[in-house]
Amino acid sequence: MTSAAEPLEVDTDVLVIGGGPAATWAALTARSEGARVTLVDKGMCGSSGVAPAATVGHWWVEPAKREQAIIERDEVGGNLSERSWMLALLEETWRRWPELGLTHGYPAGGIFRRMASPGARYCQGPIYLREMRRRVSHSGVRILDHSPALELLLDADGAVAGAAGVQRQKGRPWRIRAGAVVLATGGCAWKSGSLGSNVNTGDGYLMAAEVGVSLSGMEFSNYYGIVPKGSSMDKNGFNMVSTFYDADGNIVQSGWSGAAGASGPGGGLPGTGPAPSISGARAGTGQKAALIRAHLQGPVFQRLDLAPPQAREGMRAQMPNFFVSLDRLGIDPFLDRYEIDFVNEGTVRGTGGARVVDDTCWTGVPGLWVAGDTASREAIVGGASGAGAPNAAWTISSGTWSGRAAAAHALGRGARPAAELSGAGHAGLRPAGTPLPRGSWRQLTVAIQDEINPPAKNGLRSGAKLDASLRELDLVWDTIRDGLAGPDGSSGEATVREQVWARETAAMAASARWAYLSALARTESRAMHVREDFPSTDPGQRHRVVISGVDAPQVTLEEIQDPVISAFDFADEAAA
Ligand SMILES: Cc1cc2nc3c(=O)[nH]c(=O)nc-3n(C[C@H](O)[C@H](O)[C@H](O)COP(=O)(O)OP(=O)(O)OC[C@H]3O[C@@H](n4cnc5c(N)ncnc54)[C@H](O)[C@@H]3O)c2cc1C
Repeated sequence: MTSAAEPLEVDTDVLVIGGGPAATWAALTARSEGARVTLVDKGMCGSSGVAPAATVGHWWVEPAKREQAIIERDEVGGNLSERSWMLALLEETWRRWPELGLTHGYPAGGIFRRMASPGARYCQGPIYLREMRRRVSHSGVRILDHSPALELLLDADGAVAGAAGVQRQKGRPWRIRAGAVVLATGGCAWKSGSLGSNVNTGDGYLMAAEVGVSLSGMEFSNYYGIVPKGSSMDKNGFNMVSTFYDADGNIVQSGWSGAAGASGPGGGLPGTGPAPSISGARAGTGQKAALIRAHLQGPVFQRLDLAPPQAREGMRAQMPNFFVSLDRLGIDPFLDRYEIDFVNEGTVRGTGGARVVDDTCWTGVPGLWVAGDTASREAIVGGASGAGAPNAAWTISSGTWSGRAAAAHALGRGARPAAELSGAGHAGLRPAGTPLPRGSWRQLTVAIQDEINPPAKNGLRSGAKLDASLRELDLVWDTIRDGLAGPDGSSGEATVREQVWARETAAMAASARWAYLSALARTESRAMHVREDFPSTDPGQRHRVVISGVDAPQVTLEEIQDPVISAFDFADEAAA
């Protein structure tokens, strides 16, 4: 990777890659441990990624209610969760979330009271992330906006010792030498248009895999959000008060028991009492599959007609942006039926990601930690979506743990000699053969999306469909590996943008192959992973599907050591 502009060179203790909630919690924590911290974001930290556009609910559960919350979540996720991880997350979130001035469900003071619109009962994503940016910046963390990372840097011992990327607006490369790195680049939604997710192209997965990190749960990468047709508004908390109709007005489905956002603290409708329980939400997976099936037969329409009239005003305050898009289309969602579509939210509302090897979110590679959607969330939510509360709580807890451990690692190493570092990136960066013409990434991106985004292929899976898609994706991968690269060159901004797009395309191709190879290995239906050729859940497959390698990925199955949570005897534990 070369460019005419002089590279920006930085030396830091902890480098945090990403600028969403996971990255900002990691950066704040590492800084509070005394480390010098640099944060690089592909967009602008505080407004980039899913959370400022979409996130509202956090899994913030008081101690007395945790047992029930854990049992319910485990059931929804197909019994793949691990109790110790869930307890640790709930405790860490309980401790840290109030630092921002938000208490259970309602703003009780601090920023949210001052800034949230009257009547709002949630944390509003834009307010939250703006405040996180302010805190990170005031703590002394150096923030580089519009500075995507392209690859990790390794020292002579194979430890991760920094990263390299580009500054898009300045048209120049950057190279940061660091004692430890936290990858928090979010998940992968394959540029499907899901709200705020187009920066989530799986870059962190590819960077991690290139230095030897395995991924886990990538079969749970096919969560489909529901949008008013033609929009990207996939906020789905109000599905629970919706009726879905076919073109003739026949009811396809009434209500929803597994909607993302329909559960957890603050998940209820304003003015209607507490949030509904999520027990029975296992049915939600079946409901989504049934809706996708109906959608493949013809248009499906939605109306929020089950919302009690007294709740409607509060619903507008709760998720204003959901209503803005409908208002613009001239639709009153309480009275009018509007056509819906499905958008692939990939691992953003799915759960797959980098496999962690200990409770600090270490990847097993010296110097490298992961946080947020870059890490697998199977131990928390199994194969069900973590959106709607657990994912946001995970960004706080995994950000805290990884930031603390990365700081300790970096500070423990002391002064580092200015040794030579080597770039670990390959596909999309350093082609094995003759470089393709400029702009080739566009066609390749469409080819990847054609296999991974259609609900007919990825929402309702089968061995035959997965095999056929993998054949196409393997061809795309070979083309990328052999020829795709951003141009070397002199043209500054245009050049570095092209480099980012090429690398994003490589990451999306790699993520799609990991997703489908993992899906092939799970020969059953469980949670969001629906196989038409294996419609039942097989109790013998309560394991993790772990995938390693970039060019020729290999799948292994890993036993889950924890017993099934519903079988756990909490009373015995309390008595012990
Ligand atoms: C519609 C919708 C609604 C949701 N609502 C909820 C909810 O209410 N509750 C809940 O728990 N979860 C919710 N989720 C999920 C939640 O938003 C995510 O789990 C959460 O945002 C993950 O945070 P993160 O920091 O890991 O990633 P993100 O928020 O996606 O942030 C990733 C950051 O990394 C940056 N980045 C990407 N690539 C690079 C690179 N190469 N170099 C540098 N920076 C990079 C991006 O610019 C971005 O700043 C929702 C998701 C969707 C799609």
